[in-house]
Amino acid sequence: MGRIFNFSAGPATLPLEVLEQARDEMTDWQGRGVSVMEISHRSKAFINVAAQAEADVRELLAVPDDYAVLFLQGGATQQFALLPMNLAAPGQVVDYVVTGQWSKKAAAEARAVSKVNVVADGAAGNFTDVPARASWRLSDGAAYVHYCPNETIGGLEFHEVPDVGMAPLVADMSSTILSRPVDVRKFGVIYAGAQKNIGPAGLVLMIVRRDLLDRVPETVPPILRYASQAKEGSMLNTPPTYSWYIAGLVFQWLKRQGGLACMAEVNRRKAAKLYQAIDGSGYYRNPVAKAHRSWMNVPFTLPDAELDAVFLSEAAAAGLAELKGHRSVGGMRASIYNAMPEAGVDALVAFMADFARRHG
Ligand SMILES: *Cc1c(COP(=O)(O)O)cnc(C)c1O
Repeated sequence: MGRIFNFSAGPATLPLEVLEQARDEMTDWQGRGVSVMEISHRSKAFINVAAQAEADVRELLAVPDDYAVLFLQGGATQQFALLPMNLAAPGQVVDYVVTGQWSKKAAAEARAVSKVNVVADGAAGNFTDVPARASWRLSDGAAYVHYCPNETIGGLEFHEVPDVGMAPLVADMSSTILSRPVDVRKFGVIYAGAQKNIGPAGLVLMIVRRDLLDRVPETVPPILRYASQAKEGSMLNTPPTYSWYIAGLVFQWLKRQGGLACMAEVNRRKAAKLYQAIDGSGYYRNPVAKAHRSWMNVPFTLPDAELDAVFLSEAAAAGLAELKGHRSVGGMRASIYNAMPEAGVDALVAFMADFARRHG
């Protein structure tokens, strides 16, 4: 069996070229007779891997020098807790924009250590739209404002960075990072779990404006401090070396694709094809406000939920896998991250049209 088109929301498909390179290098990396995961993280060979990955992601995202780039572990969810611990003084208010399941979870974790102000909450509209900016209630003196630029479950994306005034903007970019260029300067912190657009699960990429590193209260243990990780090159303890290496291969692959401006063009086109297939079908439906439809995660429903199982099994038979929607939304969800080839979207669109013809 060859490769299928894998629409999993995460852990998600990786570029085939990256997997092939990793396979070829698995047992004998750089002619050393070992794999990259069997060497010391302090060795010169691995330090080079780590430094090259950092340099490449800095280049891809045009990260300014006054931002630290960290490769941490524990997933994005662990950062939901570490962010308020590192950035807020005890008792200080932190602002959260809640536009879906992930920003809601981020706020819930923060509540254990900080005073959370929910600036806006899209729950009443079932997270299908971003509450109007004019309705947001930002607090005075918030340590930061947190939001999730792309809600992976609801398929709701901000296509512009919101203006939140003076407080540093903290963004959970897990499912949209590297899908298009961003102006890093607009953010205090950008972070992303790796398993959507970067590499293996468990790794987290963090981009932190350096002045924010000094905020950490003394009560936070060193291993949990961004400042200590920045000082030690994210090697306070053994980092997830193999994941870091794979992330580096993905960054090089992105550079070979022409960088993020080129990725944005392809991603915009892939998403447009899929939304067109949904809207133009008179059969499928996507509930998200058009201005906020995600380029990465496209949920859609069939007219009759009874057909979901048939759709999924026929799609799987056609080599289109992992299309089942999240239980909170129902229906289907096609995740079309950077590594999903345009041919995969074309195949899905063709399958959807054929399915609607046969079952409509
Ligand atoms: C997947 C995801 C997470 C959770 O990542 P973990 O690595 O499982 O902690 C958080 N936020 C967003 C936006 C995600 O897509």
